[in-house]
Amino acid sequence: MMRAAPWPAMALFLASLALNLWLAGMPDWRWVPAVFAAWYIADLLSGLTHMYMDYRPCTPGVGLAEMFHYPRSREGEEYIALRQRVLPRISPFERLVYDFKNHHPRPEALGRRPLLASVLLNLVAMLLAIPGWFVAGAVVLIVGGTLAQYFHGTLHREENPWIVLAMRRAGLLMTPQAHAVHHATLRRDFATNTGWSNPLVNRIFGAALARGWLDETGLEPR
Ligand SMILES: [Zn+2]
Ligand SMILES: [Zn+2]
Repeated sequence: MMRAAPWPAMALFLASLALNLWLAGMPDWRWVPAVFAAWYIADLLSGLTHMYMDYRPCTPGVGLAEMFHYPRSREGEEYIALRQRVLPRISPFERLVYDFKNHHPRPEALGRRPLLASVLLNLVAMLLAIPGWFVAGAVVLIVGGTLAQYFHGTLHREENPWIVLAMRRAGLLMTPQAHAVHHATLRRDFATNTGWSNPLVNRIFGAALARGWLDETGLEPR
């Protein structure tokens, strides 16, 4: 399910990003590595968040397992009643955790949330003399972080805006074929923006599993 941000919040967010770019001043060569590094970090954050959410156990016994394994139509009244009974019993954070797990068998179901990081960057950039390249990198990181769930959603849709397709061709976003590896295994390639950080995220995953920080029983609600 995609819920668009209310337009005043969206307009404020865009105005805030524009203000940040204005505060960043004249572009120079340092912007180039800063922007690429930020795009990499946004991908890494998408991967680490996804990895954690996939494996974090849901609260047992509140009905999430019944929802997850519900065998009949999800359009039916019985399922809707189940949803209405279960969801108020869990925190918004846990709802997000559930969304990630639910997304594996049902890739078309994805949520997303907006961010206030840009307004915070406005204040910091206005109050402190931070270098322009840093502000530019931070803007790119905020955009990449904010759009992470959206980008993940585009990997499961047939129709996408031309910019998404152009960025895929340029290697700035990953392809659905590359993301399919995650769905086939649930053990690798958690990053969903560019996939650049997947070699690193895969190593972190291996280490986390070996140390028992992640447990496969967390993959599905029980
Ligand atoms: Zn996953
Ligand atoms: Zn997916």
